[in-house]
Amino acid sequence: MTTQIRERAIVTGATSGIGRAVAVRLAKRGAAVAVLGRNVAAAQQVAAEVADAGGVAFVAHADVSNAGQVQAAVSRFVAEYGGIDTVVASAGIALTGHVTDCDLADWDRLLATNLNGVFYLARYAIPELLKSRGTFTAISSDAGVHGACGYAAYCASKHAINGLIKCLALDYGSKGVRCNSVCPGFVETPMAEQLLTGATAEEVAFYKGIVPIGRFARPDEVAAAVAHLSSAEASYVNGMIYNLDGGSTAGFYSGAS
Ligand code: NAD
Repeated sequence: MTTQIRERAIVTGATSGIGRAVAVRLAKRGAAVAVLGRNVAAAQQVAAEVADAGGVAFVAHADVSNAGQVQAAVSRFVAEYGGIDTVVASAGIALTGHVTDCDLADWDRLLATNLNGVFYLARYAIPELLKSRGTFTAISSDAGVHGACGYAAYCASKHAINGLIKCLALDYGSKGVRCNSVCPGFVETPMAEQLLTGATAEEVAFYKGIVPIGRFARPDEVAAAVAHLSSAEASYVNGMIYNLDGGSTAGFYSGAS
């Protein structure tokens, strides 16, 4: 039986965590999904999950910090499926450290992945979204709307993504392309696990304690927000910085009362 393709989507960072959940979620609504990542074996594993969920998987090997590789992956997908309706930029890395301790190469690597990666994807995918009147959604962070001690490079990259998304929304909204940013707090993924493993007990207690909902997010909860933003249900949503953080950036929170 041939699967009917209802949507053509590219998801970066799709081999793990949030990107993986987004890829599977889009597959459930019949999308052909480019599982874009550096690790082909991991991408093939997620591709199998995409197929099981009812989608059509396309393994797209690319390092998002490499413009040529992103361009080539986008071109290959377009050659195969004729266009793109949905783009989700989830690839990212997190490094901790103060500016005075920050290795220059680490700063460059983080900005090249988190910020340049979103730029390259927009640069090469938006011409296709203009044809399809599609959507572009970036996974930023609550570190994109406020600062976080010891996360200088990461916060800088995520604030920059939100600025970039606002400009995309202004520049392309009138042409039918909606661009939005999702800003999660901690989400239960390998990235959070790695960050929290390296944190002190006080830091972990702090990050849990500032969430009014009382827990971290699940990847599927972020995927649900992305699914909404990239659907016709969100036809008037453009340029939104979507705080998906259990209320932790709503204001000062001193615990359940
Ligand atoms: P994750 O580590 O599980 O997944 C990140 C993915 O990005 C992986 O598939 C990794 O291989 C990929 N990636 C990293 N560098 C890449 C590169 N140069 N080229 C291609 N792919 C690359 O982490 P996650 O939690 O799923 O993170 C997804 C996004 O969500 C990131 O942008 C992250 O900053 C953001 N975010 C995560 C959290 C959290 O707590 N997990 C909170 C807020 C925002």
